[in-house]
Amino acid sequence: MRVFFIGFGQAGGKIVDMFIEQDKKLGTHSFRGIAVNTARTDLMGLKHIELKDRILIGQTMVKGHGVGTDNVTGARVTADEIDSIISAVDSRGTHDIDAFVIVAGLGGGTGSGGSPVLARHLKRIYREPVYALGIIPAPEEGRLYSYNAARSLTTLVNEADNTFIFDNSAWKNEGESVKSAFERLNNEVVRRFAILFRAGEVGRMGVGEMVVDSSEIINTLRGGGITSVGYAISEVISTRTKQQRGLLGGIQKNIKDTFGGKKEANEEVLMGEDRSAKIVGLVRRAMLGRLTLPCDYSTAERALVLLAGPPDEMDRKGVEKAKSWVEENIAGVEVRGGDYPVNSEYVAAVVMLATVGNAPRIKELLDIAKETKEEVIKSKEKKSTMFEEGIEPLFE
Ligand code: GDP
Repeated sequence: MRVFFIGFGQAGGKIVDMFIEQDKKLGTHSFRGIAVNTARTDLMGLKHIELKDRILIGQTMVKGHGVGTDNVTGARVTADEIDSIISAVDSRGTHDIDAFVIVAGLGGGTGSGGSPVLARHLKRIYREPVYALGIIPAPEEGRLYSYNAARSLTTLVNEADNTFIFDNSAWKNEGESVKSAFERLNNEVVRRFAILFRAGEVGRMGVGEMVVDSSEIINTLRGGGITSVGYAISEVISTRTKQQRGLLGGIQKNIKDTFGGKKEANEEVLMGEDRSAKIVGLVRRAMLGRLTLPCDYSTAERALVLLAGPPDEMDRKGVEKAKSWVEENIAGVEVRGGDYPVNSEYVAAVVMLATVGNAPRIKELLDIAKETKEEVIKSKEKKSTMFEEGIEPLFE
């Protein structure tokens, strides 16, 4: 799939920067990306999105200093300057793309407010689907972030064709602050979504035996709402390494490869024999393990199973069995799937659970937002009655 990314706000810009970095490194040219922000310094901090593709908006209103956590201003500035954003998108070329993906942290100001506005306009203008990848804040970031995210998401699900969610709180470690975890979390985001969004592209290794093309991803997402993604990897062991393993036992090593970053190679071992059972096992681990948004997978309407790895490790029967297993476990009956050959020492499984009906974290977010709204209204009421009587103001 050819994706046009728009990184909106700080988190969105950083994540799209990483997608572009990976695309350049692999030489795959599947991704195009721009960054939009009200804060000049955030745009300057990016490394891989070209300077001309970094768009500063709201200069007359906030003078390049950002909108803070005021997402209403974020939305307003975006609406005011939508023409310049759309013309920037247009001039980068859209004729060969399959989808737009807007990436943003939903708890802040610029991306939170701007994303739904941009989704609405892109949908009006282009025929290609418009997806969002929204980062939701951890409760410890404070009520305002949750309130912002709830309002943004409530709007976004009506504007975008589907919204992928990544939950910061599900991914930060115990005792770790969200801020110090950003880089690691962003790696986790890119690792999963880069595989998914690259499905169907012809890489150096050719096409898969059971290709997942962009229309299959688009059809899986057509129910709208929110979507969560699972992921698991398994090391491929060559005969030689197997022999070494036999001698040395379960040694660990760090490997840098297609799936990004350094990984501890202590994952389940994928042997040549019994391949289809291993694939089913890998897909099960992807779906039952930590999802980008923890949710009740049995409420997903549709799913897509994607295996990426060396062609020798792919197995048609395994993919079919894994699809059936997923189908037995979700609400709907539509499960698509296939493989994608890459040069890697791992096989990766990505399971996209589309249009999820129940996710406790989203409910929690909406509940916090409802309470926060009441508190905001109450405090406004207090303020308005406090100065009502007794003292004459200087002027009316
Ligand atoms: P904006 O620049 O006004 O759009 O605001 P941010 O992008 O900073 O969005 C704030 C939200 O995004 C908060 O919930 C932050 O925790 C989260 N956030 C900010 N930067 C990152 C990042 O690099 N990675 C992740 N995962 N979340 C981030």
